Amino acid sequence: MEPRITPERAGGGRSGAVEPAPARTSESADGDVRRRIPRTDALLGEPRLAEAARRLGTPVVKAAVREAQAGARAGRVPPDAVADAAVALLPDTAGGLRAVINATGVLLHTNLGRAPLSAAARQAVAEAAGPTDVELDLDTGVRARRGRTALRALRERVPSAGAAHVVNNGAAALVLAATVLAAGREIVISRGEMVEIGDGFRLPDLLVSTGARLREVGTTNRTTAADYAAAIGPGTGFVLKVHPSNFRITGFTRTADVGELAALGVPVVVDIGSGLLAPHPLLPEEPDAETQLRAGARLVTASGDKLLGGPQCGLLLGEEDVVRTLARHPLARALRVDKLTLAALEATLTGPPTPTAAALAADPTVLRARAHRLAAALRAHGVDVQAVESAATVGGGGAPGVTLPSGALSLPESYAVALRTGHVPVVGRLEAGRCLLDLRAVPPEDDERLAEAVRAAAGR
Ligand SMILES: *Cc1c(COP(=O)(O)O)cnc(C)c1O
Repeated sequence: MEPRITPERAGGGRSGAVEPAPARTSESADGDVRRRIPRTDALLGEPRLAEAARRLGTPVVKAAVREAQAGARAGRVPPDAVADAAVALLPDTAGGLRAVINATGVLLHTNLGRAPLSAAARQAVAEAAGPTDVELDLDTGVRARRGRTALRALRERVPSAGAAHVVNNGAAALVLAATVLAAGREIVISRGEMVEIGDGFRLPDLLVSTGARLREVGTTNRTTAADYAAAIGPGTGFVLKVHPSNFRITGFTRTADVGELAALGVPVVVDIGSGLLAPHPLLPEEPDAETQLRAGARLVTASGDKLLGGPQCGLLLGEEDVVRTLARHPLARALRVDKLTLAALEATLTGPPTPTAAALAADPTVLRARAHRLAAALRAHGVDVQAVESAATVGGGGAPGVTLPSGALSLPESYAVALRTGHVPVVGRLEAGRCLLDLRAVPPEDDERLAEAVRAAAGR
């Protein structure tokens, strides 16, 4: 049977980029090629593509088929290789998100999904994906508290917390606290802690959206306990301390500590941001939940996907009656997390050190040695690359101003695009006209994949 010309238009493929057909010298040669391009129905019946359709869904496979057919019409794919081309274009998963290698040197990169999950957390997510006992006690057959094992793990890591609750993210934790403890009342906050967390989202706006009013005290650089004391009255819901997690104020500065504020007789809520549960030896200025609670905070809020190294979620840790009140508020239902988040959080808390912890603790000598070994191997393939010293940062997730010595591959700037758009996308950082691939956030087991991506980029 002669394949018919298919009038389908290309598009919807993974890259979405299909070049127009080059001009032909002969109409009939063009028509001949087009007649030999297999039809969509025939391609979808091809065993490999039929199997892929069962695994990924027909729309994903159809998109790859159309892109391959367009390639054939444009003369880039021989008509008898369209099926092979479509197979090569198939994504690994049905989801649109693609795994990338984070070579930016920013450990918690918001655009790259912040903390990467540990192997233990990924496994827990896979296990929880089907039906689970998230709200059922299998021993008694009776309904049980949702996520109880994750909450227990959280409390074990923060002994001073009488109770814990988990919501969708750090912003949700603040919204819940403000709604329950301060709607129609005042939140007393320092002018030095009116923070924009990113992408135009500002904490003061978030807090006011709950119906609470802000009572600003002090100045940008200096706020004392007396400033707070003067503002506190019958209308006070709570005093809020916000960790400036993405900027630093230095010089003539002063802040009141949580102990002083707790002595003022109103609830103190501390938004620590980063999710450190206990002090971190390498980040002495980064606040942690246990220390804040011990100092007298009634409630601590934090993100799960920053320095804690877990899934996106918001943690609420504090006095038992306060946390219970928050967890029972109707809004808590709208902010609740799914079983996959609970599974990942618990495995993050109880499992081996997270990738984020490993990246933070990585020895600069080892990072530089990795850079030298990779650079030598790539130079042997003719790549214009050097191993250089580099300075990594924690990123939007905390520890502003802290730089972490690191090792990097330095490549010509033109590599940046080729690496980012390659088969295994690699995101580096541009610095002084070079494309740097910083190894601090790259797990050592990814070195070979990174080298392969650089070789592929060199050939493009
Ligand atoms: C990151 C951050 C937030 C927002 O947390 P999300 O998890 O991104 O919603 C709030 N406060 C502080 C201090 C932060 O650092």
